[in-house]
Parts: sequence; structure tokens; C-alpha cells
Amino acid sequence: MAKQTPMMEQYLRIKAEHEDAFLFFRLGDFYELFFDDAQKAAKELEITLTKRGKGDEAIPMCGVPYHSSEQYITQLIEKGYKVAICEQTEDPQQAKGVVKREVVQIITPGTVMEGKAISDRENNYLLSITDFSETEYGLAAIDMTTGQLLTTIITTSFEDVSHEAASFRPKEIVVPSFLGEEKQKLLTSRLGVTISYEDNCEQIESMGEYVNHLEDYRTKMTCQRLLTYIYRTTKRALDHIQQATYYLPNEYMTIDSYSKRNLELVETIREKKKQGSLLWVLDKTATAMGARALKQWVERPLIRKEHIAERLSLVDSFIEHYFEREAVREHLIGVYDLERLSGKVAFGNVNARDLIQLKRSLEEVPRLFDIVQSLRNDFANKLLQQTDHCEQLKELLQKSIHEDPPVSITEGNIIKDGYNADLDEYRHAMRNGKSWIASMEKKEREETGIKSLKVGFNKVFGYYIEVTKANLHLLPEGRYERKQTLTNAERYISEELKEKEALILEAEENSEKLEYELFMEVRENVKEYIRPLQELANIVSTIDVLQSFAVVAEQNHYVKPIITPEGDVDIKEGRHPVVEKVIDSGEYVSNNLTLNRERELLLITGPNMAGKSTYMRQLALISIMAQIGSYVPADEATLPIFDQIFTRIGAADDLAQGQSTFMVEMLETKHAVSKATKNSLILLDEIGRGTSTYDGMALAQSIIEYIHNEIGAKTLFSTHYHELTTLEQHCERLKNVHVSAIEEDGKVVFLHKVVDGSADRSYGIYVAELAELPEKLITRAKEILYDFENGQAQLQQGTENEKAISVEQKPSYSTNEQLTLFEEDNLGSEATNKKEAITNQEAAIIQELKGVNLLHVSPIKAIELLDQLQRKLK
Ligand code: ADP
Ligand code: MG
Repeated sequence: MAKQTPMMEQYLRIKAEHEDAFLFFRLGDFYELFFDDAQKAAKELEITLTKRGKGDEAIPMCGVPYHSSEQYITQLIEKGYKVAICEQTEDPQQAKGVVKREVVQIITPGTVMEGKAISDRENNYLLSITDFSETEYGLAAIDMTTGQLLTTIITTSFEDVSHEAASFRPKEIVVPSFLGEEKQKLLTSRLGVTISYEDNCEQIESMGEYVNHLEDYRTKMTCQRLLTYIYRTTKRALDHIQQATYYLPNEYMTIDSYSKRNLELVETIREKKKQGSLLWVLDKTATAMGARALKQWVERPLIRKEHIAERLSLVDSFIEHYFEREAVREHLIGVYDLERLSGKVAFGNVNARDLIQLKRSLEEVPRLFDIVQSLRNDFANKLLQQTDHCEQLKELLQKSIHEDPPVSITEGNIIKDGYNADLDEYRHAMRNGKSWIASMEKKEREETGIKSLKVGFNKVFGYYIEVTKANLHLLPEGRYERKQTLTNAERYISEELKEKEALILEAEENSEKLEYELFMEVRENVKEYIRPLQELANIVSTIDVLQSFAVVAEQNHYVKPIITPEGDVDIKEGRHPVVEKVIDSGEYVSNNLTLNRERELLLITGPNMAGKSTYMRQLALISIMAQIGSYVPADEATLPIFDQIFTRIGAADDLAQGQSTFMVEMLETKHAVSKATKNSLILLDEIGRGTSTYDGMALAQSIIEYIHNEIGAKTLFSTHYHELTTLEQHCERLKNVHVSAIEEDGKVVFLHKVVDGSADRSYGIYVAELAELPEKLITRAKEILYDFENGQAQLQQGTENEKAISVEQKPSYSTNEQLTLFEEDNLGSEATNKKEAITNQEAAIIQELKGVNLLHVSPIKAIELLDQLQRKLK
């Protein structure tokens, strides 16, 4: 490369230290990018690529104006890039040679503090991982905007580390540069994060206060790596960082990242949107702090009964005390984001408006707490015990900051009168001066007789007396000194006006300067309160989430779950919290579910689209809701405490994954069967479909047997291999259930009702019919199936499960034929005794009746429904 100019040499030297970031190089009013940075940025930001220099030696260059740089930086951060901000660090006028420049901050996806990249209602975590051996890892996570710092040790595999890491949904992970390539790849592919390197994990500067209490050197080192990285990029002290909290991953229910995705806990699989997720249903929080806390809770359900019971008890109170709850919601709305405000204070970018928000919040908090206290709930009282309400801070802010201050902190109008004597004096001088000017204007008008004479002010010329040209003849010669000529007026100055001007401007300048100093003082003072403010934020967010649970429970007719730690599952009329909200009201068919020592594993069969997957997820979601302290969508629910939940979806069914292969399916299954305990819940949805029939069936069967014989976890297994239903005979704790469907006019009607016994046909042809395949084709398929089944019927004779004679087993498609309803006990004891034969249509009506959830039906709608049913029977 040709010899560079001194400035380009400076650029190249700084760039060499920041290879992994876009270097925003300050040149006057612009940030310029050069070489590869310029080419890449021009593309990413859709800005014009230009050149610096001529001919062959021209350097690619592009730039963004300093004033609008934030939006460009945000765009790059959102795409996972880093941006190093390089400023001029001396006055260009006084520089000898090239102006000194330095990188003052590196903004990265995990350390960004402001702007669009940060969502109010979500945390933004930066993680760090240290590997100590193949089975020993330290993990630390920080949210820079709130200062929350968490750390743990994982002593299993890197696979588990990646799941734990995923639970934070981080944007960036800091690792040692020597972390294995495979591991780095796993992190980038599974989590889609930006990887950053930091090899230094020694304790430096003021880190001690955050980490010295940690007993394990591994957590300490991992936190130190993270903090070193943060110091290196933000280049400032951060007082809002909280003492690291050590947590054990198994203090919470473990839900690996595949399962979280499958269950759509915080976002939908396909669109990655909150709408349609469990979080969406549960979020009636009134503050951003509450919304973030709720998301953390959903990601980490509890496993200690006392903790779950505490949360549930406060939800109870909020349900019982409607008026108090409404008042709590109102006060919550008045509380601003204390957590992020304290982050801003520490980062040094809070303005007077932020401080007013802080003050209002501090005024609101005691009112909020009074109401919560009036509920006389033990957990609430424990929560509110010994909290510092930051009274003194509130008083300071009340005394010092104007109610409606400007955004700028350098132009005055921030500090209240009466707060500081000197400031009052300056202001007095300014006001006096100004009223003197007003009276002078009046006097001059009278004396000259020029009514339009006025005294004005502008930044360049200061104060002046203005007389229009038309009136100039009235002005006595030499009365004022000429200052400026405009097209239709002359401006003057007088000795006394000059004197006053000097006094006013000096007072103004002094007062602005003093106001700025006073504001800085107040701001420093606020820093002392960062810890108590964070504590308050914590309490407020807990209250917020629990009132949200109460609102949601009431609106959706949820019930309080009964938790028996090692007990059974017994759900009466359970519903899927999300599906019931997205389909028409009253359409959702609720279902019972029982799992106990004799009934540990349910094999679910039933036609496509019958509701198998929904039924399985419903159990997982109800369990998770219960374990985060929420009420659940059911009429009654007795639940154990699950230590882990595994959800696996067969490759063929996993539409969202797209490139999902059978290998992935098997890897995920391996993870489930190797980690699950007898206290876990496993949901296997159509596992084994990704390979040939016999292969898949063999695998499915052996997986079921393995879980049944070796693990004893509570399990739901849905399958379209009806052959597997015979497993009931040799797996004694396995029970067959199926989702019922009936034929009506030769078509299948899904009842979405799960009943005991097996279904033995997949109704493929009916689904094909629904899809409107050519009639000729359908008829032919029916003939072929009929032949198959007749052939097979002979082969299977004797092995058929006698008690489960279901509609599906009848090889006939006639609508007139009388059929036995397949679930005898569903008709009640009387009907069972009679073994009455009923038509398909009648069966459908019974099912329809059973499916009606009276809680969701208005009286008028009920009568309408009754009328419809009766007509059908006539
Ligand atoms: P499967 O897994 O048996 O193919 P799904 O569980 O995917 O079926 O359900 C298919 C559709 O049926 C769902 O998208 C939902 O709209 C509807 N559905 C499922 N269960 C119910 C239910 N209990 N009540 C009402 N509609 C349901
Ligand atoms: Mg399914």
C-alpha cells in the first residue's frame, strides 16, 4: 500500500485495535468509515459509498452525520455488529499536526444502553462463558440496562451450557478466544448471537464489590471476564451493577431450548412474535419492570412448593380484593422504570426529565405499598418488610428539580427557585434587568413619541433599541448609538442599556453554569440510592406480575392449582390457554387428564387435526403456569411439581424447523431420555415419523418401553402408528387414550375430546376429502382401504382389544348404520347399563353438549344452542 497521510496512519493504527467493530472515525461533523468498513456499512445502511483521494490510491469511504448517527448505530447493533466510536479528543484549533483521536466507547449488541435496540418490556442480556474442563463451565449474565448480574456453574456438558445460555435469550456472548471452535459454532447456530472475546479474567479496579462474596473461583473468574469486557467496551465505571447473584440452574424447572421453542412460551415458533405465546396470554402487567420480570418467571418456573404457594397466595388476595387490585394497577401505572432509571443514572445519561419521573415514582410507591399492605397477605408483608422508600431522595428531587424541565441539561430552567441562594440571586438580577428594560422601553416611547419603538434581543448583537425607518425623523440626533441597519428599521444601543445588558448576560451565564453544576450534584446524589432503587424495582415488579396473574385468572376463568409435590396429575376440564383465546369463544373443547402411579404414560392416537398436539401442550403449559404461581385454565387441577419438561416433535411434524432432519429428532430425543427423572414430564409428539414405517415404529416402541421401564417419567406420547396401542398389554403403566372423532354424512367430525381406549385408524382419507381431492380418487382410496382392512381384520383376529370398540373400527361408511358409542362410561352409569345404541348424529350431539363450557356461554346463547340441538334430533 502506498504511503498514507498522517491522519490515515492514525486511522489504521486505531482500526488495527478494533478489527471486529465498525470504526466510526470522527471528522468534523461526520463519522467516517474507510476501506472494508465503508464497503460493508454502505451496504448494510444503504448509504452512498464514496472515495477519498484520487486514482488508484483512492480509499473507499462513507460517512454519517454526527447528529443522526444514533439511528445508523442502532441499525448495525440490531444486525449483531459492534461499533467503535472514535472521537476527537482535543480541540482541532489548538492541535499541532493531526488531531488526537481515541475510541471512547464500543457499542455492542449486549452492552447497548439506549435506543431502539432496547425493548422496554424485555431484558437485554450479555453473557459470558468460561470452560474449565469438558464438564465444567462457568456462566455469567448481565443486563446492562438494569445492572442485574447472575452467575452459575454447570458441571455436565457444553450442550447443557448452551441450553442454559439460551434461556437468557442473549444478544452477545463473551468467551475466551481459545474456546473450541465446535462450541463457538454451537452458540452461534443455536442462539444466533454475536460472539466476543475476552481473555483477561483477573480481578481489576472496583470489581471486588460485585464478586468477592462468590465462593466458587469459577463463578468469580467468569464474572470478571464479563466485567473486564464491559469496562473495555463502555470505558466507564458503572455503579448500577448489582452484586452477582449465584443461582443453581436446578433451583428452577429445567426446560431446554427446544422445548421452550415448541411450547411457544415467550414467542411463536414461526413468526417469533409474542402474540400467540403463553407470555402474551399472561401479560397484563402495568409496568415495564413487571413485564420483564414476568418474562423471566416464564423462562424459569419454580420447583419449591413454598415459593409457588407464596406467589399463589398473593394472587388469591388480588382476586378476592377487586378494588384494591384496581387501585394497585392505577398506582403501578404511575411508577416509571426505576430499574432502567438507575441504570441511566449510573451510566451518566439521565436528564432532568428522568429525575422528575423518578420523583413521581417515589411519590407513588408508598401509596402503592399501603394498599398492598392492607391486603394482610403474609407474602406481601414479607416483601414489603424493611424497604427503604428513599424518602430523602424524594425530598431532594421535590425541592430541586422543576416540574417540567427541558431535555437539555445545559440551558438552565432545571433547578427550582429557593433551592440555592446564589442561583436565586442571579435569577433576581436577570428578572430585575428584564423589568428595567421593559420600563426603559416604555419611557423611551413616551419621551420620543415613537409608539412602535421597541427593545429587542438577539444572540449575535445582544440588546438593541429598534426604530422603523418611517419613524426615524422623530428620533433626536445623537440620542442613541447606531448599531445595525435593516431594510426597514435601524437598531441602536445606549450606554445604560449596554450596562444592563452586561449585568443580565453575566447573570444568565452564571445561572446556567450554576444550574448545570447543581444538577450534576443532584445526579451524583441519586447515585447513592441506586441499590435501594433497584430493590424497590424488584418489589414493584413482583407485585405487578402477581396482580397481572389475578387479572388474567379472572378474565379467563382460571382456577387455583393444588400442588402436591410428588403427586399425581388430575386435571378436570383443562384448556389450552393460548388456543382457547385464538379460536371463537365457547368453541374450545376442554379435556380431563389423569396421570398417576398406575397410569404414567398415555399413548394418544387419533386422526390428524384431532387435537393430539394441543392436548399434550396443554398439560405442559398448565404445569408451567402453576409453577410460576399463576392460576390455570381448568375447572380443577391437582398437579405435581415437575423438575423438568421435555417436548419433542417428530421431524415430519416440525414445520417450523424446516431443515429439521431425523438426526435432529433423534438427538433431541436422546437429550430427553438421558436427562429425564421420574419427576419429569416428557411429551413426545409423533416421534419416529422421520424414517420408514417399520424403522420408525420400532424406534417409537423402544423409546416408550425405555421411558416406561427405565425412567418412570410422566409421559404423553402421540402417534399415528396404531400398532403401538397393543403396548398397553405389556407396559402396565401405559394407557391408551384417543381423541375422538365421529363420522357424519360420511365425513369426519373432530370432537377434540380425549377419551380412554385406542383409535385405530388415522382418517387420512377424510382429511384428503376435507382437502377436496378429486372425488374419483377418494372413492378409489376407500375401496383400497376396505380391501386392506378386510384382509388385515382376519390377520388381527383375536388380538383386538375387546373393550374398545370404537366408531373408527367399523369399516363401513354408511351414515344410516347404527353405531355403538365408543365411550360407554361417557353416558353415565344409567346409559352404560342399557348399552343403548345411538346414531352417529346423536353421538355428535352428545359430544357437542359435553363440549360446551357453560362459563363461556351467555344465557341467550345457551338457549339458542339448546334449540339447535333439539332441531337436529327431531
Ligand atoms: P393433531 O396434533 O391431532 O394433528 P392439533 O393438536 O394440531 O391436532 O389440533 C389441530 C387443530 O384443532 C388446532 O389447531 C385447533 O385449532 C383445533 N383444536 C385442537 N384441540 C382443540 C380443542 N380441545 N378444542 C377446540 N379446538 C381444538
Ligand atoms: Mg400434532
